[in-house]
Amino acid sequence: MNSNARDIPSIDQTILIAGAGGFIGGHLVADLLRRGYTRLRAVDIKPFGEWYQRSPQVDNRVLDLQSLGNCTESVNGCDVVYNLAADMGGMGFIENNKALCMLSVLINTHLLMAAKEVGAQRFFYASSACVYAGYKQKETDNPGLREEDAYPADPEDGYGWEKLFSERMCRHFREDFGIETRVARFHNVYGPHGTFDGGREKAPAAICRKVIHSKMADSDSIEVWGDGKQTRSFMYIDDCLEGIHRIMESEVRDPINLGSDEMVSINELVEIVERIQGRTLERRHNLDAPKGVRGRSSDNARISDLLGWAPSISLRDGMARTYAWIEEQMLAGKKSL
Ligand code: NAD
Repeated sequence: MNSNARDIPSIDQTILIAGAGGFIGGHLVADLLRRGYTRLRAVDIKPFGEWYQRSPQVDNRVLDLQSLGNCTESVNGCDVVYNLAADMGGMGFIENNKALCMLSVLINTHLLMAAKEVGAQRFFYASSACVYAGYKQKETDNPGLREEDAYPADPEDGYGWEKLFSERMCRHFREDFGIETRVARFHNVYGPHGTFDGGREKAPAAICRKVIHSKMADSDSIEVWGDGKQTRSFMYIDDCLEGIHRIMESEVRDPINLGSDEMVSINELVEIVERIQGRTLERRHNLDAPKGVRGRSSDNARISDLLGWAPSISLRDGMARTYAWIEEQMLAGKKSL
């Protein structure tokens, strides 16, 4: 189908970023400003003091987007909506908070209803690799998950079911009400200005924190969740932002992978961080900790084919930048917000 130029996010349109106080939402606001967008509205449930990034030139609001009334207030006057808001975290959080994760369905549902009500033209939804079927992720040498591997459905319990349901909600709002929805399945995004402690952090930040802490505490060992042989791929935030932009401007209506295809084991990820620090540590494997699926990576055939682009920042480079930021925070005695 041909694109309608009026639908594509343009500089003169008003744009809502939901979840703007979070890791990716905060970076997205900064990225849109860098790209020249000026009419931005940023909303998050967290008090301003807890936002990772906040730009004074943006219309910033603190609102609970599980409520339809707050979604209508937030979307009012907006042409474009980016939904990055969700109650989520790494494996430690999502395995132990399934009901909280599923309640994020209220955010996406009410944002879609509000977008339909006010006539917003384009809607971005941040889905996840957690929608993929568990039976496709039982081996460490995962060849990469293709978009069709989400069905027959067997997603991550709680969090993954919510994402899969919300993906379909986007599809049906597009089919039935004409809102141009775009859905990206993020695979493990990492980078500065995100959570690195407190229980919601993901593996790259957690490993940086543990390795930095071991040095600060003059210790030579760290705890690693599981046997460390489980595999994943990790996408640096700059690739994520570029991907969001390209997907949002495209005519790709079906959910599409947005992730790195550089698959590593958790032990290899620890080695990368050790090399950044210049020390080798003893690993205490905690086999009772939440581990998630055995093997997961992104197959990037579709994004390469449809957009002529795919994430390419190496894990080594991205982790060096992330490590430097987390070390700076920890040396300054700061905690995640
Ligand atoms: P994040 O936790 O840093 O940001 C999410 C933000 O949503 C938080 O600031 C939170 O306060 C806000 N939020 C939660 N409930 C809200 C509510 N009721 N009303 C308003 N705001 C609310 O997470 P993130 O890493 O920035 O993730 C952004 C999106 O990308 C989420 O939808 C997440 O599921 C998805 N995703 C992220 C990753 C990743 O690796 N970071 C991977 C897959 C999918």
